[in-house]
Amino acid sequence: MLRTYSILIWVFGLAMISACTRNPYSGASKLFQIPISDAHGQYSLQTVELSTLGDPRTMEGAAAQIKVNPVVTTEGLDGQMPAARFILSSDGVMIPMDYVSMQLTTVYYHVEKLWELEKSIHLENVLARPRKLGLSVGLIDPGDDRKIVNNALFYAPLDVTLLVPYERSNIPISMNGGILAHEHFHALFSELMGPKIANLRSSSLWEKAPVEILDLTNDVDIPEKLTGPVKIRKYNAVLLRALDEGLADFWGWVYTGDDSFVAASLPELEMRRSLFKLSDSDKIKQPPSREAILLRLKKLDWDGRTSKDLSYLIGTFYARFLRNIPVLMDSTPFSKGLIFSDSNVTHRLKLAEKLIQALPRLRDSILESYKKAEPINPNDLFFSIFPEVERKSWSKNVCERLKAFLVEDDLPDVEVKVTSPDPAAPPQLIATKLDICAEKK
Ligand SMILES: [Zn+2]
Repeated sequence: MLRTYSILIWVFGLAMISACTRNPYSGASKLFQIPISDAHGQYSLQTVELSTLGDPRTMEGAAAQIKVNPVVTTEGLDGQMPAARFILSSDGVMIPMDYVSMQLTTVYYHVEKLWELEKSIHLENVLARPRKLGLSVGLIDPGDDRKIVNNALFYAPLDVTLLVPYERSNIPISMNGGILAHEHFHALFSELMGPKIANLRSSSLWEKAPVEILDLTNDVDIPEKLTGPVKIRKYNAVLLRALDEGLADFWGWVYTGDDSFVAASLPELEMRRSLFKLSDSDKIKQPPSREAILLRLKKLDWDGRTSKDLSYLIGTFYARFLRNIPVLMDSTPFSKGLIFSDSNVTHRLKLAEKLIQALPRLRDSILESYKKAEPINPNDLFFSIFPEVERKSWSKNVCERLKAFLVEDDLPDVEVKVTSPDPAAPPQLIATKLDICAEKK
C-alpha cells in the first residue's frame, strides 16, 4: 500500500513537471521575447528570431560568444560559458527567466542585427566572428581605483566588447541597441582605419578634465605657438578619439534611428551627446579649430590628463554633422530618387555606406598628418566624405549650407587672381582661405 502510494505520487509529480515545462531546449525554438526600442526610444517586449544562435543554454552562435563575469587576460576573456534559463511559451517563444538571461538574449540579438547591417552595406567580412563580449565585467578605473559601472567599452588589442555592471534605474546598457552599436562601431573603425591608426588612438588619455576647460562654445584667445612632437601626438590622439567617438554615436543612430539613444541609459548625457535634426533655419555648428583644441590641451598642461571627455565633446560635432547631411543637402534626392527619411533604415544605411567609403580617404589624410608631425585637420572628415568630384555637382545653396561645417581657420590657403580696376595693370595673386563655393553661381 505504502509502495503503491509513493509510486502514485511519483507518477503524478512527473505529470505535473512535464505539463509546466516542456523542455525549452529540445525543440530549438529560435524565437525569443526581449525588450527592444523603436526610433523614438520607446521600449516594448517583442518576439524576435535569433537565426544564427546555436545552443540557447550558452547563448552562443555564429554572431556572438558572450561570457558572464569574465576575467580579462592578455589572451582574451576567461570565464565560464553562461547558463541561460528560459520558459517555452505555449506559442513556441523562449521567455528569459532571469535578468542575466534577458541581457544575454538582447546582446545576442543586437550583435546579430549589427552583422545584418554590415552585410547590407558589404562589410560582412571585416570583423572576426563570433564577436566576443563580456557581460558584468569587473573593471577598476586606474585613475581612482574604483569599480567602473554604467559603461561599456571596446578593447581593440583583444577585439572584445566589455559591458560593466549597470547600477542605474534606466535602460541597462546591455539592452540598449544604440550603445551596443556605438561600441561595435569602434571595432569597425579599428579594422577599417588599420592597425597604425588603432595604435595611435589608444594613447592613454583616460583621466577627466574640469568641465569649464572643456567648454568649447566660448570664444578663446589665440594661443601662443604650440609645437613639438609630443604635443602634436597628444592633440592627434584626442582628435582621433573624437572622430572615433563621434562616428560611433552616428552608428548608434544609424542602427536605432533614435537621436537620444545614449540618454536612454545615461540621461545626464542628453545635452552633450544627443543628436538632433536641424530645422531649416538652423546652421550646423562646426567643430573647434586646431588652435582652440590646442589651447584647451595647453590649459591641461600637457600632463596626460588630456581627457577622453574632450574627445567626446568634439566627437559630438561630427556625429551631429553626419546625422544631418541629408538635411543640409536640402531636398536633394539622396539616392536613387528617394527623398531622405530619418525613420527609414534603408535611407540611414545609405548614409552609413557613404561614411564607410570615406574612411580610406580619412585614414590617408590622418596618416599624412602624422608623417609630417602636424595636427590632424578638423576638416579632414568633411573633405573625405565630399571629395572634389562630388562637390562639383552641388548647387550654390547646398554648397553654402554644407560648408558652414568647415573650420575656416583650418582651411588650406589658396592663391586667387585679383584684377585691378586699372585695365593696364596686371592681375595680382593674393593668398586667401579656400572657399569651396566661390566658383558656384
Ligand atoms: Zn565609444
